[in-house]
Amino acid sequence: MREIVIAGGGAAGLMAALTASENPENHVLLLERQSRVGRKLLSTGNGRCNLTNCRADISHYHGEHPNFAAFALSRFGSADTLAFFGALGLVTVTEPDGRVYPYSNMANSVLDVLRFTLESRDNASTITGASVERIRKNADGFTVTAGETTFAAEAVIVACGGAAGGKLGGVMDGYQLLKALGHHRTALYPALVQLKTDPTYPRSLKGVKADARLTLLEDGRRKAVNRGEILFTEYGVSGPAVFDLSRAAAAGEYLTLELDFWPDRTEAEVRQWVTERAARWPTAEAGQILTGAVHNRLGLVIVKAAGLSPAVPLEQLGEKDHAAIAHVCKRFPLPVTGSCGFDSAQVTAGGMCTEEFDDKTMESRLVPGLYACGEVLDIDGDCGGYNLQWAWASGRLAGESIG
Ligand SMILES: Cc1cc2nc3c(=O)[nH]c(=O)nc-3n(C[C@H](O)[C@H](O)[C@H](O)COP(=O)(O)OP(=O)(O)OC[C@H]3O[C@@H](n4cnc5c(N)ncnc54)[C@H](O)[C@@H]3O)c2cc1C
Repeated sequence: MREIVIAGGGAAGLMAALTASENPENHVLLLERQSRVGRKLLSTGNGRCNLTNCRADISHYHGEHPNFAAFALSRFGSADTLAFFGALGLVTVTEPDGRVYPYSNMANSVLDVLRFTLESRDNASTITGASVERIRKNADGFTVTAGETTFAAEAVIVACGGAAGGKLGGVMDGYQLLKALGHHRTALYPALVQLKTDPTYPRSLKGVKADARLTLLEDGRRKAVNRGEILFTEYGVSGPAVFDLSRAAAAGEYLTLELDFWPDRTEAEVRQWVTERAARWPTAEAGQILTGAVHNRLGLVIVKAAGLSPAVPLEQLGEKDHAAIAHVCKRFPLPVTGSCGFDSAQVTAGGMCTEEFDDKTMESRLVPGLYACGEVLDIDGDCGGYNLQWAWASGRLAGESIG
């Protein structure tokens, strides 16, 4: 029997353990720091677990060398993920935007089919509450120390995840274990995270959602653009469209988020619409001018941000006022003051340098017999199931290669 130790029982570690134990010549020992495996998985997708995305191609991945992920994703893409989980008994639903969820809408369905299958394998065992503190290379392979116990292994897979989601078990351990074996790491940033902005307007819009085009400006220059749903919060902005921009925001300075609340019309068209509205509705208040076009509270804030009093009757507004409303509607500026950090982030941008691993096997180029997969590596994906797809694909490749 070939003894394989896997550090970390999250998405990538569970997939690697299931794959490596398909080979009856392997014995797999999965060591998990927390009191149960897959704790973070249970919180994914707001408790629904967006386990993959049917559009998962390499364009959705980032890192210093995003192409590192291409081989693993081509070998085990979203269709393979669906077939794999289908064979374990998981029933899934694909939404129009390609996001895949369990039919039960419960993340524990995903974890349970993984857990139960692993538990049914004679050649696999799991120890929880076992925090791997040291991995040493020796002539026969490795020794892996967790607390008072040392395990011998011919090969080791590090699947300890990243720093994101601190309350769910995101830690620095994986980086430290691999650094101690000679590997290097890129800078880490929280990604897929809420942005903190000047709270004046977001606070009064707390809970309001809007479809907007978002432009992230650094010192006035365009750094990133995205379109989709945003959600106003106590501290700033959240929502899928913000999450995808947060990666660019994490590494920037003097940032402003410019929101376009009417992306399908030009500023001139919005101005004309405002002018016509004012003419048709002369006795209504200025604060109501955008009623029917955007959320009422947002309409009021736009009028205030345009420097107008919401109580003024529309007949008292002139061309200049209409232009100011249209301008703010198309270019609502929110100075960005930071992000909500690793604890609130869904993923870590940055990680262990991928040049030091073989993309065809996930094996270390520095230490033969050592493998890494999942978020611990310098690969992160967009919001929408892409990060779990990377965890499955890289865990699958490591588990296959080791056998
Ligand atoms: C709130 C939230 C929601 C998310 N939603 C989605 C989503 O819907 N879709 C999506 O694609 N992605 C989502 N993600 C991202 C996704 O969960 C991660 O990218 C993915 O779980 C990474 O898998 P991993 O196995 O590399 O790491 P993890 O899942 O974090 O697993 C690592 C495991 O290693 C263990 N560990 C750490 N150190 C040690 C040690 N020293 N010894 C032993 N064990 C150790 C940890 O306890 C953990 O269980 C979400 C993340 C968060 C935080």
